[in-house]
Amino acid sequence: MTAARHVAVVGAGPAGLAAAHAALAAGARVTLIDSAEQPGGQYHRTLPEAYAAERPGELQHGWSAFERRRRQVLAHPRCTWLPETSVWALERPDQDGEGTERPGRLQERPDQARKRSVGAPPRLHLLCGGPVDGSGRTRRTLDADALVLATGAHDRVLPFPGWQLPGVYSAGAAQALAKGERVVVGDRVVVAGSGPFLLPVAASLLEAGSRVREVLEAGTPGTVARGWSGRPWELASQLGKAAELKDCAAALARHRVPYRLGRAVVEARGAGRVEEIVTARLRPDWSVVPGTERTVTVDALCVGHGFSPQLELPVAAGCALRGEQPGRGGTGEFVAVDDEQRTSVPCVFAAGEITGIAGAPAACAEGAVAGWTAAGGAPSVQPLRVLRRSRDQGRAFARRLARAHPVGAGWPGWLRLDTVVCRCEETDYRALCEAFTSAAESAPRVAKLGTRAGLGPCQARICGPTVTELRDRFAGRAADGPAERPADGLPAATPHRRPIAQPIRLGELASPAAALIDDEQHLPEGEQLGDASDQIPSDSKQRPSASDQTRTEDEQTRSRGEPTHIEGEQSHPDSEQESDS
Ligand SMILES: Cc1cc2nc3c(=O)[nH]c(=O)nc-3n(C[C@H](O)[C@H](O)[C@H](O)COP(=O)(O)OP(=O)(O)OC[C@H]3O[C@@H](n4cnc5c(N)ncnc54)[C@H](O)[C@@H]3O)c2cc1C
Repeated sequence: MTAARHVAVVGAGPAGLAAAHAALAAGARVTLIDSAEQPGGQYHRTLPEAYAAERPGELQHGWSAFERRRRQVLAHPRCTWLPETSVWALERPDQDGEGTERPGRLQERPDQARKRSVGAPPRLHLLCGGPVDGSGRTRRTLDADALVLATGAHDRVLPFPGWQLPGVYSAGAAQALAKGERVVVGDRVVVAGSGPFLLPVAASLLEAGSRVREVLEAGTPGTVARGWSGRPWELASQLGKAAELKDCAAALARHRVPYRLGRAVVEARGAGRVEEIVTARLRPDWSVVPGTERTVTVDALCVGHGFSPQLELPVAAGCALRGEQPGRGGTGEFVAVDDEQRTSVPCVFAAGEITGIAGAPAACAEGAVAGWTAAGGAPSVQPLRVLRRSRDQGRAFARRLARAHPVGAGWPGWLRLDTVVCRCEETDYRALCEAFTSAAESAPRVAKLGTRAGLGPCQARICGPTVTELRDRFAGRAADGPAERPADGLPAATPHRRPIAQPIRLGELASPAAALIDDEQHLPEGEQLGDASDQIPSDSKQRPSASDQTRTEDEQTRSRGEPTHIEGEQSHPDSEQESDS
């Protein structure tokens, strides 16, 4: 009997959970890893277990479909769920001489070395058993037969004078507090930025008790209408999303919250924290129309101008990015994948927002395709075709989203010389202008060291895209034009290259890392493999339900031949009839 293929999935958001589900359905053993306490990612951000919430699905869309899948995956006997576990680094087989011992490194067992030498995916370095900034975490390594990366995105915020003041939140952070903690960021709040994401943020804030004064979309009516109109069949496949946005719009209407197009927050003011904001009408390129400024009193401001994918792990794995120009530098924006979600690195798959910003339904479909293929599932089964179609519809939606809500090139006009651009290091626009106009300092690495922009705790996650865009403007390079050639012998400078993907304490770094279960008989000496259910949150610590057991039997049938059904997100979770959103 051949051992089941071991698939490691990093990220338990919609994409990662769907990947785990499909890989299990294809007969694989799955290790599902997330730095959060609960699966769900950004879309299904849930209250901590300790809150024992009576209605955890409140403020959620597609809750029952998600909850069903979550239970099926976590209770599955072939699934090991590692909550509060961060992948802080990836080690490529070619980086360690394929199994050769290095000082200070855990000695590899011969079977591991063999496995890593035959086109194995990178080794995962984990910090287990605590939140991202926690203490008492244990260092582990994990080798799998295939790796699915589904690490999602975070929201992007463009700088403007005063955006560093307390009380100015990224829209995602405000929503996370409302959805994940039921904490409101303020009483009188304005939500501003770009994209349909502003609507669920405003709806979450209203539900959690804030008074939302207005929602400001920077895109002008013409740009937004042109982006969304035409090719209606592409939108017909996104009815779930449309219904969700309609619910949010209805919530805004019920609370009489105005939604204004072509207007942005161009300044935040206050003594010690935000007290008022200045909004202004924008032209289609987001430059300010003079004389249209208005002051609004607030005690919190939530801003979001789209999303940035979390690319540090794919970059560390060596995955090619879309739009990258090999050997010529330049940074692609998303992970390049083929029709089966394979990246350019053998046995490494990518799914969800790291391959494009297309929303939760597309993330689910991509995850299911990735998980199924990573597990070695048959490539031509009918459910896979349905999932691919759903994924492709999601991608068409993503292109439309990008067309309707582009970041206008005129936003740097909002900046003053003393505007902080890198909040961690308090680097202002003046310092960047000086660096970018100096022949000696304009190279990316020199500018970074000279200005310190991007060297703080967030490691350029927030300011990185902004600094790159400003640099390109100074160099007279179009964002989509030819990239700058990297210095000889150095990899291209990219804001996504972070060899240490998650914060790690020096003490943790210094401690030896034991190999995590590879399989039971390969445990490090003296260690026992606990029941997988030890790691399952209490509400899923249950034997598989009758339907789960039936599914497991189905899977056995499937692993012998054709699957009967891969439950990806052939359609949006919300397309199911639900009463819990
Ligand atoms: C802040 C924010 C709020 C959003 N809110 C909405 C909304 O209200 N409505 C809507 O329609 N869409 C929303 N979106 C978009 C939606 O969340 C995505 O379409 C969908 O969640 C993407 O799924 P995903 O699985 O690709 O990523 P995510 O849902 O982001 O999941 C990624 C997971 O990977 C984990 N992870 C990342 N790096 C590591 C690591 N190194 N180690 C371990 N785990 C790691 C994260 O903890 C996370 O759980 C939001 C996006 C963001 C960024």
